[in-house]
Amino acid sequence: MNRRSVVVKDLIFGSGKVFVQTMTKKDTRNVAAAVKQIEQIQKSGADLVRLAVPDNEAAEALYKIVKKVSIPVVADIHFDYRLALKAIDAGVSKIRINPGNIGSKNNLLEVVKAALSNKIPIRIGVNEGSLPKDLLVMFEVDPVGALVESVSREVRLLEDVGFNDIIISAKTFSVNLLVKTYELLFRKFPYPLHVGVTEAGPLFQGTVRSSVALGILLSKGIGDTIRVSLSADPTDEVKVGKEILKSLELETGPVIISCPTCGRTEVNLGKLTKLVEKRLLSVKKPLRVAIMGCAVNGPSEAKSADLGIACAKKFAFIFRNGKIIKKIDNDNLEKVFLDELESLICQEDL
Ligand code: SF4
Repeated sequence: MNRRSVVVKDLIFGSGKVFVQTMTKKDTRNVAAAVKQIEQIQKSGADLVRLAVPDNEAAEALYKIVKKVSIPVVADIHFDYRLALKAIDAGVSKIRINPGNIGSKNNLLEVVKAALSNKIPIRIGVNEGSLPKDLLVMFEVDPVGALVESVSREVRLLEDVGFNDIIISAKTFSVNLLVKTYELLFRKFPYPLHVGVTEAGPLFQGTVRSSVALGILLSKGIGDTIRVSLSADPTDEVKVGKEILKSLELETGPVIISCPTCGRTEVNLGKLTKLVEKRLLSVKKPLRVAIMGCAVNGPSEAKSADLGIACAKKFAFIFRNGKIIKKIDNDNLEKVFLDELESLICQEDL
């Protein structure tokens, strides 16, 4: 099957690159708060951001919000096609709406006409929590079938009116169900897939659950954009999403190789690791930094990194590109290592 690509402002879904997105958690009607959060989200590395548009006031706010931010904005709309029309007019880059829940065919035609003339795609967002009644019955015996059938119905509505700039999602909380559902969606439809575990939970649980699900799917080449849904700050969702992509080598960026510490560790490695992690948050370069607690694995890991430290009883050795550049007293290691990190970050030719 030839897979379709879909353009979302300056991003091409279906090009092989996987884009990270999240949602704002502020009231969209509060323009200043929404814009501030979008800026934080963008700074944390998101490629696009979605906003809930529950009413006309929120749709009106989009006119101001879209003008104030540079990241592609997606409007999340349910039931009221007029909100979709207004969001498109306000300049959003994509809308999420299910054609099956916006009323008559004329409503759908109006939305499709506006989306076509503004060149914006539509994401069909099916969720296990909002299946139509007949599919809820089917879900009891064939959950994958019910979710995929729900997507099929929505896709058909758009295809029947000649609209193909479609992105699909069908989210579930169950990792096993999600994986099976997306495997089938990938085989059945040529459209880009938005992948995410719905309501994945608080930061720790949701991170693990999302990482397992997205890891399985992305490693099979399934997924064009991801959203990690956490009961946490949206910037945490983005950080987790980006870390998942880095783990699968689908994206470059800084990585920290740090030992878990054990009874041999003589220094406060946890503190140093946290300081390095904090400093690297705003760095995009593909740096490899190793922080190792002793002479067992320390030197070899530290050698293989752009910058590494291997601590010993009284001294620590700092490595740059495989060579020892400094032997320092353990009392000074934080400052000296962070200075070296700074000089590495500032180096232009990485
Ligand atoms: S590198 Fe050394 S200190 Fe760190 S966990 Fe391994 S043995 Fe322990």
